[in-house]
Amino acid sequence: MSPGPLSGKAHARSIAPGEPRPDLLVEATIAEAAAEISAAGRDFAARGWVAATSGNFSRRIDASRMAITASGRDKGVLTADDIVVVDIEAKLPEGVSAEAPLHASLYRRDAAIGAVLHVHSIAATLVSQRFEAAGEVVLEGYEMLKALSGIATHEARVEVPVFANDQDIPWLAARVEARLEDAPGCVGYLIAGHGLYAWGRTMAEARRHVEAFDFLLTCELEKGRRFP
Ligand SMILES: [Zn+2]
Repeated sequence: MSPGPLSGKAHARSIAPGEPRPDLLVEATIAEAAAEISAAGRDFAARGWVAATSGNFSRRIDASRMAITASGRDKGVLTADDIVVVDIEAKLPEGVSAEAPLHASLYRRDAAIGAVLHVHSIAATLVSQRFEAAGEVVLEGYEMLKALSGIATHEARVEVPVFANDQDIPWLAARVEARLEDAPGCVGYLIAGHGLYAWGRTMAEARRHVEAFDFLLTCELEKGRRFP
């Protein structure tokens, strides 16, 4: 993949008031993490992005642990009992989301990631299928791109990786890790016919990224329908 504007200088944006320094670990207590995950779950369930217990959410606790949704829970009514704290380096225990290795690998590879959110939205499901063969969705010319961390202009070109779906999650996680090595500013990727993964330094930033991607992917979907 050719380096997009997310790599290099474009990513070195000045830090807005209230944003954490990018080199600092954004930690949370278990209670804070559970509250943040539950709030994201209520919002995303209301938007129809995590139907039928799909999707999973996580929040970094510290350098070695994350809190993540347990398997098969209704994301609209999460409580602290639906959230499990696991070691990101160790073998994941029974009962956590089947896709937990995809979360753990992101936290391991980048200490600046504080939250990871995965949704099965209609736009992410369909656009990822459409661009599976290309291996990426290119987003350009949208003002909404500025909602993605590191982007300061609509003239940016953002390449969102698309991976073939697979039920072997550790294998999929290894492919994602290899691809992200070449995309240092990447804040999200798609799994074909499946959904979107997006992350941020904080839960607020991760939620903004999911919202922005859903808007941008819906634009791509509509563009394909109206201007085929
Ligand atoms: Zn999924």
